[in-house]
Amino acid sequence: MPPQLTRLDDATVAEIAAGEVISRPARVVSELIDNALDAGASRIDIAVDGDGTDRIRVEDDGHGLAREDAELAVQRHTTSKLAADASDALTAVSTLGFRGEALAAICDCATVELVTNDGDAVGTELRVDDGEVTVSDAARGQGTTVTVSDLFADRPARRESLAGPAAEFGRISDRVAAYALARPEVRFSLRHDGTTTFTTTGNGPRDALLGVYDADLARQATVVEHATDIDTGAGTGSLELRGVLAYPSVTRASREHVRVAVDGRPVEDSGLRRAVIDGYDSLLAGDDYPVAAVDIQPPSGAVDPNVHPAKQEVGLRYRETIEAAVEAAVGDALSTADARRTEAAATDLTTELDSVDRTDPFADLRVIGGFRELYLLCEDGDQLLVVDQHAAHERVNYERLQAAVGDDAVPTATLEPPASVSVSPAAASLAAAHADLLDSLGFAVETFGGGTLRLSAVPAPFGRTADPAALRATLDSIAAEETPADPRDALLAELACQPSLKAGDALSTDDAEELLARLGECEQPFACPHGRPTVCRIDEATLAAGFDRESTRFD
Ligand code: ADP
Ligand code: MG
Repeated sequence: MPPQLTRLDDATVAEIAAGEVISRPARVVSELIDNALDAGASRIDIAVDGDGTDRIRVEDDGHGLAREDAELAVQRHTTSKLAADASDALTAVSTLGFRGEALAAICDCATVELVTNDGDAVGTELRVDDGEVTVSDAARGQGTTVTVSDLFADRPARRESLAGPAAEFGRISDRVAAYALARPEVRFSLRHDGTTTFTTTGNGPRDALLGVYDADLARQATVVEHATDIDTGAGTGSLELRGVLAYPSVTRASREHVRVAVDGRPVEDSGLRRAVIDGYDSLLAGDDYPVAAVDIQPPSGAVDPNVHPAKQEVGLRYRETIEAAVEAAVGDALSTADARRTEAAATDLTTELDSVDRTDPFADLRVIGGFRELYLLCEDGDQLLVVDQHAAHERVNYERLQAAVGDDAVPTATLEPPASVSVSPAAASLAAAHADLLDSLGFAVETFGGGTLRLSAVPAPFGRTADPAALRATLDSIAAEETPADPRDALLAELACQPSLKAGDALSTDDAEELLARLGECEQPFACPHGRPTVCRIDEATLAAGFDRESTRFD
């Protein structure tokens, strides 16, 4: 049964941020999708003409509305989502819309046609044009179709502030993608000027990624489902995180492709987004961002959904704890053997993963040979694997150094006589300011005036003495990050790099197999400590296409 509509009392209305404004077509789309999802839709079809002011139509198969409820729905401050005297209940609302003014606000600045049926023999068509409401019978199955046309027709200033059809549709498309990824169990389709721009199947997160991006990306991603207990300050609560994480080898130049939803609602929340990115940690190079979509369900009571009228930012209690849990969940998901196995075995989307626990992703490789003394070529089923031997060696060294150092202080070696290292004046004052940190990293540094540092001890983990120049690299990484999470990682990455195979070292087959075996033992075999990929795969199908072969067999 669809819920009954009630009017909110004045106090509640006042409590809810007043004056929710429809600022652009993408906002209309968001509100209509919110309503469709709240109505329990399993399928939502969105069609947009031009920049969205011409026409936006959102069609759903949700529970629909009875006629008298449909008439109420377009009035201001009517909602089915709160009891009439609801001040206490506000923070407990779990639906996407609860302010009861989105439809009314849209009716204020556009012509709206709402066709709905709650399962009755005959449905309702409601037209709101310039405040005039017309009601008639309509033939429609259960669900609701809302068509918004002539948006901002009498608001020339708003129209002028829009950015043109391509940009406005871009925003809409981005919003719909965010919903499709946040609600992978719902089928979405988006059409622009009659052409379908993307669809999702409702069959889970990997399919949603396939719909929003492409098959290649969907293959190079791991599905995460994670639950963890966190401290809420008044006991413990359960935080759940679900979604898809593209492997670190897939990167983008901006953070826009890191999408976060809270309780199934896409949000622009820089803290949560940062937490997801931090979960990738050392797997990404400095300017690279991952592709990821996660839906976070914090413990009940943690979310105050009423912070922002556009409902995009969320208020979170004990935010730091939640962000730390998100970061850890993402890091865990990326480092599990399962994620590796998925990448190793996912040759196409329909192949079932074999149940054999193949923890070493390189166990079945056959080394074919080397190329230009830089790359190892290997056969892995119907794929050609190309391994960057330098990057692979760095990864192996890095993880061995990490293991050797553990949580203890870094072992050091005394320099006799001390070395002088010249650095920029800025780096010199950084060294002075972070003397304790450098000390814990194993550098005994004295500032000497000018740009000269005197170095009487250097880190020497694993019997390997750092080059004094590693101090410069360490200072660089301290300067680059405002608060280094663990500057030792940067240091270890530097050290791991020095003795690694340089380009131009030929490897015997035995050496190559040894290297791959050790790479396979790593926690994160697919990226070097600086975030560059260690391995790249070429499908036999790619070669076949290059040679215009229809079949990959001899013919
Ligand atoms: P809110 O979503 O904040 O309640 P809206 O103005 O967006 O306010 O919608 C008002 C009411 O209209 C909703 O509470 C809901 O009962 C009803 N409604 C709107 N769209 C739909 C839909 N697609 N399917 C079913 N009911 C809807
Ligand atoms: Mg709503």
